[in-house]
Amino acid sequence: MSQSVCILGATGSIGESTLKVLQQHPDKYSVFAVTAYSRLEKLVEICKQFHPQVAVVPSTKQDRLAQLFKQHQIDYTEILTDEAGLVAVAEHPQVDIVMAAIVGAAGLLPTLAAVKASKRVLLANKEALVMSGEIMMQAAEQHQALLLPVDSEHNAIFQCLPNGYCQSERTGQPKQGVSRILLTASGGPFLNTSLNDLHDVTPAQACKHPNWSMGQKISVDSATLMNKGLELIEACHLFSISEHFVTVVIHPQSIIHSMVQYVDGSTLAQMGNPDMCTPIAHALAWPQRISTPVDALDLFVHQQLNFQQPDTIKFPALRLARHAMQAGGVAPAILNAANEIAVAAFLQQKIKFTAIPEVVEHTLNDMENAQANSLETILQADQFARNIATQRVDALRLK
Ligand code: NDP
Ligand code: MG
Repeated sequence: MSQSVCILGATGSIGESTLKVLQQHPDKYSVFAVTAYSRLEKLVEICKQFHPQVAVVPSTKQDRLAQLFKQHQIDYTEILTDEAGLVAVAEHPQVDIVMAAIVGAAGLLPTLAAVKASKRVLLANKEALVMSGEIMMQAAEQHQALLLPVDSEHNAIFQCLPNGYCQSERTGQPKQGVSRILLTASGGPFLNTSLNDLHDVTPAQACKHPNWSMGQKISVDSATLMNKGLELIEACHLFSISEHFVTVVIHPQSIIHSMVQYVDGSTLAQMGNPDMCTPIAHALAWPQRISTPVDALDLFVHQQLNFQQPDTIKFPALRLARHAMQAGGVAPAILNAANEIAVAAFLQQKIKFTAIPEVVEHTLNDMENAQANSLETILQADQFARNIATQRVDALRLK
């Protein structure tokens, strides 16, 4: 029987790759709902091709979308709006699978709603898990939702872990013969840029990732290595492992997507051409496998795989994220919120690239940590951190 999919963030880079995979398997999957934030024309094209029952946009865009639907004779798609609309499609009884691919904190409530409605949740929106951590993991356990990682590294780790690892007891310690996780990072576009030159890099340069084509925010995160910091926190929650057992390895070719080490000396790696269709297809079909348009890896082309230590002096974001994870509580939510503000400011050319970790560090230092025992506490810390980070951006603002 065909499964019904809701794509939160359908107009984004992950949304596009998801649709590419679904398009190859019309017998297995149908698109029930799609959501967009600003790219209405793209949403219309998606609706024309996939005939979803529901589309969700901000209420400020509702009239414009209705107009476009009329122009394109789309009378089969209902329009819902805002966060309530996102939550409604994420938990809709007709939906089997939710792709959580909204960028940033905006994805938290709909992703959590999907988890609480016991869906199969394909998690791309790492910020949601970084913010809510144990609350999201506990909700998944309580509601028997299948939370499957789409982030390529976490998907790779999931593939290299023993069967049933994520369903077993959450101890924070490696178990079932696992000794360590090796989280790979490409190092981003500035891996070989000197600290001095890093001050003057532009948004266009930061968004030009050497191996992956992604949305702007995650591209900047990859350039500062904050993406790897967020992924470190993501891995700790997904695999219930203390950050102490996660080593970040720079691997510029992005062919190995991460590794798991075992007590007997084995290291298992998952490899493939860097294309998000692979982890998306894996999470969609797990434990089955389905085809994708991705070419098989040709090792005669990729003859060299290199590895090095991350430079945490040049890229302090990784150190900040590790500290936030060690501190626990709402520290990861503060880190994430301050980073979202700083990245947006950098993209608008208000602050320098190297000011991004500075804003994050300032915000973390300026706020008291608190236990993350409720969603309200987390959202409050998120809002507070955004205010402090915004003030810091203003203080560091380029003239
Ligand atoms: P994009 O910026 O390409 O897409 C983001 C999506 O979220 C778009 O559909 C956008 O709508 C929507 N959106 C943006 N802001 C809001 C908001 N405030 N409310 C509701 N919807 C919103 O990002 P990516 O696809 O690259 O990334 C999505 C998530 O997946 C991120 O969390 C990222 O870290 C993660 N991820 C991405 C990878 C990649 O290769 N791209 C790899 C691994 C993880 P619109 O476009 O209409 O404005
Ligand atoms: Mg990743």
